[in-house]
Amino acid sequence: MVTRLYSHPIYLEHVTPPGHPERPDRLRAIAHALEAEGFAGLDRVEAPKGERESVLLVHPAGFMERIEAAIPAEGLVRIDADTSVSPKSFEAAMTAVGAATAAVDDVFSGAADNVFVASRPPGHHAERATAMGFCLFNNAAIAARHAQKKHGAERVAIVDWDVHHGNGTQDIFWADPSVLYCSTHQMPLYPGTGAKSETGAGNIVNAPLAPNDGGEAFRDAFLTRVLPAIDRFQPDLIIVSAGFDAHRRDPLAQINLVEDDFDWATGELMDRAQRYSAGRLVSLLEGGYDLQGLASSVAAHVRRLMGS
Ligand SMILES: [Zn+2]
Repeated sequence: MVTRLYSHPIYLEHVTPPGHPERPDRLRAIAHALEAEGFAGLDRVEAPKGERESVLLVHPAGFMERIEAAIPAEGLVRIDADTSVSPKSFEAAMTAVGAATAAVDDVFSGAADNVFVASRPPGHHAERATAMGFCLFNNAAIAARHAQKKHGAERVAIVDWDVHHGNGTQDIFWADPSVLYCSTHQMPLYPGTGAKSETGAGNIVNAPLAPNDGGEAFRDAFLTRVLPAIDRFQPDLIIVSAGFDAHRRDPLAQINLVEDDFDWATGELMDRAQRYSAGRLVSLLEGGYDLQGLASSVAAHVRRLMGS
């Protein structure tokens, strides 16, 4: 079993305002956790810079150019109420795209069985032409399109267990039955979308959780909504929008998941990937804002990906 890990020092140079939860220390905490002895077998690769053409698989050229033009020579520029860019943000975002597309290449070429990408900025709130919610480009959506364009994948499933609804991913694939989007998330919560009634072309499966729900409700959502949808869809690739802000310690939401819940969900998705996708599974970091909860949850997730 080869589990590849992508990261890059440039991700630490996407700077956010003081006190902002989406901060470089998140990746430092993850890197530290993955230094433990049990992770010696990880295939660690420095993320490549992404292609502009990859971004254009999902976002209009004018949007990409607006983000690039917003980058300041120094300091920070806000592009929405809670999303800002610093001098290296475009390069970091392009390298997050590069890791996501390289990860897809790896699972199709057989270079890796599965991949975890520890990158920032995250992506699932980025709509076709709107950056928001700490996100610039939608890495998961770009990865899905890349799998279809470059590797001939017909059906790609994106499973998003970040505690916030991935409005951006839903927006991008709303009318596209070749991509299944399944999300568990707290409702009500930012960004406000993600009701069960939002079903797109029958390819959107929202499984909202209530504040104070925990592992039992999360697993029930998986067992009754997410996993049956994957079983019906039989994807050629599973992409995980892996946010860890549904952890009980997280300050941005009120869901009470623990490490074992992420471990369990990872195992269930690996099982489906084995059944339908020749094991191909690509996991992309989204949220997760309590450093301890984030690091230990990522460790549980990656340990399971490694088959241990
Ligand atoms: Zn989130």
